[in-house]
Amino acid sequence: MTKEKPAIIISSPSGGGKGTIIRRLMQNNPRLALSVSATTRPMREGEKHGVDYYFLSVEEFRQKIKEGEVVEWEEVYPGKMYGTLRSELERLWADGKIIIFEIDVNGAMHLREEFGDEALLMYITPPSLEVLEQRLRERGTEDPESFQVRMQRAEYELSFQKEFDVVIMNDDLETAVADAEQAISEFLGK
Ligand code: 5GP
Repeated sequence: MTKEKPAIIISSPSGGGKGTIIRRLMQNNPRLALSVSATTRPMREGEKHGVDYYFLSVEEFRQKIKEGEVVEWEEVYPGKMYGTLRSELERLWADGKIIIFEIDVNGAMHLREEFGDEALLMYITPPSLEVLEQRLRERGTEDPESFQVRMQRAEYELSFQKEFDVVIMNDDLETAVADAEQAISEFLGK
């Protein structure tokens, strides 16, 4: 059975390397496109509005929820909201794209309910919490408080792995990309 609105839903703790893997997947398969989420967190250096996220104020975000524009949303970190925009999905599906979602574990569970068999849930896991901590530190994007919050959140996120269809170990990047590509082609071939 071919899928009309295929959705690849990818979660991993902050620093788990999902951004790099997703970029590689998209380079290798032009049918894959990332759903750009909306967020109320501040923009990091080098990020662009409409490319990394739609950066909204809390009021703008709430307004979009009221208008029914937000398919799912979570307060992933205290005071920081993240959500999937309906307009984004409609645009990408109209273009015949296979949509990749880079979202937290609760968002992933919501989208499974929403999309059922059209969704593949993929969890990208670090070799250990220590490696995750080291990667997040090397990335250098977080102040000490945000760093602590992200590490605590990582333990919570990791406990959800068993709910996912596939778990990809991100120890070696090339192996992780190849494993993810294989899981996607098996899913799309079904
Ligand atoms: P970051 O602040 O590092 O860009 O992202 C933090 C977390 O928010 C990540 O775990 C990411 O998966 C999650 N996230 C990003 N966009 C969305 C979204 O649209 N919905 C949900 N539920 N989570 C999201």
